[in-house]
Amino acid sequence: MKERLQELETEALGKVEKSGTIDELKQVRVEYLGKKGPITEVLRGMGKLSKEERPVIGQLANDVREKISDAIDEKQTKLEDEALEEQLKEESIDVTLPGRPVQVGGPHLLTSIIEEIEDLFLGMGFEIKEGPEVETDYYNFEALNLPKGHPARDMQDTFYITEELLMRTHTSPVQARTMGQKNGTEPVKMICPGKVYRRDTDDATHSHQFTQIEGLLVDEHVRMSDLKGVLQTFARKMFGAEREIRLRPSFFPFTEPSVEMDISCKMCGGEGCSVCKGTGWIEILGAGMVHPNVLEMAGYDSEKYSGFAFGMGPERIAMLKHGIDDIRHFYTNDVRFLSQYHKA
Ligand SMILES: [Zn+2]
Repeated sequence: MKERLQELETEALGKVEKSGTIDELKQVRVEYLGKKGPITEVLRGMGKLSKEERPVIGQLANDVREKISDAIDEKQTKLEDEALEEQLKEESIDVTLPGRPVQVGGPHLLTSIIEEIEDLFLGMGFEIKEGPEVETDYYNFEALNLPKGHPARDMQDTFYITEELLMRTHTSPVQARTMGQKNGTEPVKMICPGKVYRRDTDDATHSHQFTQIEGLLVDEHVRMSDLKGVLQTFARKMFGAEREIRLRPSFFPFTEPSVEMDISCKMCGGEGCSVCKGTGWIEILGAGMVHPNVLEMAGYDSEKYSGFAFGMGPERIAMLKHGIDDIRHFYTNDVRFLSQYHKA
């Protein structure tokens, strides 16, 4: 019996040694230490032994069992360590590889231009106002001296939501709303940047959606020369200190008199070139003295109060400033175009 146990021990330890996987090891455990294993069998036959022999063989059987069990445990730990080592090797990160460069974004050119213009007017004491893009017919047209059926409405055809609700065609309704909040007694000094909509066919100079910045100043004793001074300051800060401006008569339903403002061409210095189409001047914006009807509709006494308003397109400003030839570049989100204007 003693020999049989020693034989089993050698046999089992040999199999443990040979096991290359945890599964194989499990089989060895079941085979030798299981309830139906050979050691259990040996122990069962102990009844035939003498009283003296029984504890000796019992002790030996336990020792053998323990040795096999320890060997299996040891081998299992070794196999698990190896497996982990292997996995770590496969999944290791090579920290010496150069990283992929992170693309840093920046504000859209239009956003930059709008912020630049905002800063400029904030510096002159104007406040910035915003309003809804879905506007009522009243604020978009009627309050701006464009009653229903007015022919000038044709120039600003837009997308109607209902008879009375539409996508605003200009940011002027923000002026009407702001004036309306002042009860006809307080002065207004504001600019309103934002998106506007027209039913235009998109081409190099037209878009069905674009941005506008309008300005309004209402107070007592506001004169045309105040308008000219503000516009000149704007033009020189935006396009260079040597820029001259010129005002030409024009028509807008909400201003009287109305003007278009040109700046002297930077390219040719007034000599005439292809950029200014030979005139030496480039059209920048529209402006004028607020029409008395508009003041009255907002609750101001037009005998006492007067004001000026102006409106410009940030796209046009950006196109002139950077020599951009197509308005659609602003909206097609081509990163190759946009990234040129990211400030470092
Ligand atoms: Zn020119």
